Amino acid sequence: MHSFTAVFVLALVAHLVVRLWLAWRQVRFVATHRGTVPAGFAAVVSPAEHARAADYAAANERLDMVEAVYDTLVALALTLGGVIAVAGAWSVALAGRGVTAGTLHVMAVFAVLALIGLPFGIYRTFVLEQRFGFNRTRPGTFVADQFKGWALGLVLGGSMAACVLWIMAKAGTSWWLLGWAAWLAFSLTVTMAWPRVIAPLFNRFSPLEDAALRARIDALLDRCDFRAKAVFVMDGSRRSSHGNAYFTGLGREKRIVFFDTLLGSLNQPQIESVLAHELAHFKLRHVPQRLVAGALLSLAGFALLGWLARQDWFYSALGVPQPSDSAALLLFLVAAPAFTWLVSPLMAAWSRRHEFEADAFAARHSDARSLAEALAKLYKDNATTLTPDPLYSAFHDSHPPPADRIGRLMALARPAASTQ
Ligand SMILES: [Zn+2]
Repeated sequence: MHSFTAVFVLALVAHLVVRLWLAWRQVRFVATHRGTVPAGFAAVVSPAEHARAADYAAANERLDMVEAVYDTLVALALTLGGVIAVAGAWSVALAGRGVTAGTLHVMAVFAVLALIGLPFGIYRTFVLEQRFGFNRTRPGTFVADQFKGWALGLVLGGSMAACVLWIMAKAGTSWWLLGWAAWLAFSLTVTMAWPRVIAPLFNRFSPLEDAALRARIDALLDRCDFRAKAVFVMDGSRRSSHGNAYFTGLGREKRIVFFDTLLGSLNQPQIESVLAHELAHFKLRHVPQRLVAGALLSLAGFALLGWLARQDWFYSALGVPQPSDSAALLLFLVAAPAFTWLVSPLMAAWSRRHEFEADAFAARHSDARSLAEALAKLYKDNATTLTPDPLYSAFHDSHPPPADRIGRLMALARPAASTQ
């Protein structure tokens, strides 16, 4: 047995153990605090709502524990179990050796992954979300979403895989630099096209119509010197009663999107403060920072893949007897998560810092108290647990724990008298 086989299996098992341990901690912590609404939330969240949020968090973690075991078994089956090797032999038999066969190989493995992952999607939507009263997805919408998702994966994933495989075959040993450039151009194009071309395949976007709210928002955009004035409302209620707001796109395609469910539950000052938070991610350059970080990480990934693809042991240690470009690509994509989870707490911490910065920006340009109220309402409506396990939260959460966020906002809130 090659020593890298042992390294890979150990890394997979370590990831599984950490994931299960954190999920177990979260279930236990949430259960311990199920009976008492934290002090700052007692006015907004009832004991029954707090208990329901605890049950929702626990149900999500239990499902994630099953998924963690499943993900580990799938990674083992694909590599040491020989699935990638068999799919490779099958694609060679069908299309010979070349970019076409390689693309077929990559797409076949991803098609298998999409199919066997389907039961989790069905369970999450129609059992878990249904049980807690969040699901609004009709079976027809779910099926249509699956087909659209697969078609997109086929077109976008297929063309990207073909492009990288072609570069691998033609560009010599430093193909990875060219491959990275192509990947970067591709992902920037997709990011820019997403709001206008891809998102409308799944949802309807309409300009915000409420004139009073629109005027309030325009005033905020002027105050923040924000030029792209595209604010849209998305029919999120078609699939779920969870409410949210997000920003999307790049350059002149920048958009701010409110879920209709969010607009239904917040008042105008609260909506304005949520928008101010979202604007902050643009104004404080969080978006380009994340893009640059992503580009650098992927450059490191391509460089590593460029080197690994030339090592015979990389293939044999991961269950593939015959080296090929497509096998290198697939093995890399399957094996990398066994190691990259080690940096995910750093990314989560970085993201939480951005969230605090965006909250402080919203406090300066809008109103801290309104944002605190809006967040409390969203936590309640989305059954977000107010008492996450500190370690679990530090490891996984892209957003700070509710109590920390609200606490900082209240400290920033101007005294009530001076807001008049
Ligand atoms: Zn944010």
